[in-house]
Amino acid sequence: MPSVTMNAQEVRPVWTSEQGSMAKQTAETRWAKIIQGTVDDIGETAVAEDVDDQKRAESIAIQIALKNIKKEIEQNKPLTYVLLHGPKRMNSRRFRPLQDDGKPDIQAWNKQLAAIGECSWINCPWLFGECYMYRRIQMILNSSKHWQNYDVFKRQKDSTFVKSRAAVEELASRYIQIVADTGLAQNESKEEAKKLLFIEMTEVALWGNATDLSLLANLTLEDLQNLQGHAAIQKSQRNIVDNDTNDVWTYLQRTTSHANRQIDIVLDNAGFEFFTDVLYAAYLLDAGIATSVRLHTKEFPWFVSDVIPSDIESLFEHLDSSEFFPGRKYLDKLIPRLRKFFQAGAITTTTDPFWTTPFSFHEMPSKAPALFKELQNSYLVIFKGDLNYRKLTRDGLWPHTTTYEEALGPLGKQSGVKILALRTNKSDVCVGVPTQSKVDALNEEAPGSAWVRNGKYAVVSFNEGQ
Ligand SMILES: [Mg+2]
Repeated sequence: MPSVTMNAQEVRPVWTSEQGSMAKQTAETRWAKIIQGTVDDIGETAVAEDVDDQKRAESIAIQIALKNIKKEIEQNKPLTYVLLHGPKRMNSRRFRPLQDDGKPDIQAWNKQLAAIGECSWINCPWLFGECYMYRRIQMILNSSKHWQNYDVFKRQKDSTFVKSRAAVEELASRYIQIVADTGLAQNESKEEAKKLLFIEMTEVALWGNATDLSLLANLTLEDLQNLQGHAAIQKSQRNIVDNDTNDVWTYLQRTTSHANRQIDIVLDNAGFEFFTDVLYAAYLLDAGIATSVRLHTKEFPWFVSDVIPSDIESLFEHLDSSEFFPGRKYLDKLIPRLRKFFQAGAITTTTDPFWTTPFSFHEMPSKAPALFKELQNSYLVIFKGDLNYRKLTRDGLWPHTTTYEEALGPLGKQSGVKILALRTNKSDVCVGVPTQSKVDALNEEAPGSAWVRNGKYAVVSFNEGQ
């Protein structure tokens, strides 16, 4: 059966009111818990001995404001206005913008809020509602005096990283023994081995995404260890439902003579996943595939576990700590190598306000033209994780056989952007499945759309933007 082609505008983005959707489930059951987590975290920090009295006092108001968001969600309040109770039941409504918290993005947010029309927490476009929730949390912190640069998710990020100890040590050992010590990555006479190494390293970066903290509640520790371990990575190739790894390799082989081969990685999560991303960046450099790698972080705490600038130094602090990672044999060799890439400017980091807007990437050419141009000039742009994938595909309810190129909209055909998505499937959208019979087989194997949602299936989707 040929792939379905559809006009991007005909495909609805998923709403939190959609029966049976991950969107609805997330909005109804997870959002309030995430907010409660921030309340508890602030509380825990505020009682620490070294916190001064003013900061402690302010934490109370912050906790109340956070709990108010939680209440709004639980009571399915409107996102865009408040009801004013007048006399004789003459209720009226007032548009409720985000308060000015001194950040330059507030105006754009409020424009978007005004444009979105009537909607409530459990009846809104999922992508918008979820981004809005994280911006609301940040608004409270930005408006505070003593908590402005506080990362309300740091505690969670750190505690999860510790749990991936075995996988971190295993990957460090593999990297040193296979990539660094053997020179295999650059050995011209070993084409097939080089390709296999590329597949393996790409899969490390892919499955590293399975530890997304915002979905951790659904995975047991055993699950995580299986996903992170080498044997599971090999087995998991069969769970990649759109696998363009060969096409990426062909593109990279065809273009080795390009002088400037800067690869951009638009990151997802801190901790274990970020470790695998830095390892992947190091591999791309060591193998001569990239001449430089640029990592894109979020500007402020986002979707619980996303990398923000302070997570970069935090990664190295953790890796250096023998309390966190007692197996030092390979880590002590690996860490100086990784640090060197940063110090030499071979790996750089950057951030852009566009990543923390509610806009899908279909809107990048109009809303963030400078960023779009930068990505057009990149040798390869790698988007990590579920949220980036949702944004690439407009969080649309596309038929699963829609081509990746089609679902990318303005970032697809003739965009000039070489886009690789490495994403474990954890939401409602998934495109690029080659045939309907494959979709049918997946539905049989993992019923109830589990293969689109449970993080055990994935895509490695590539488009050259030609
Ligand atoms: Mg994330």
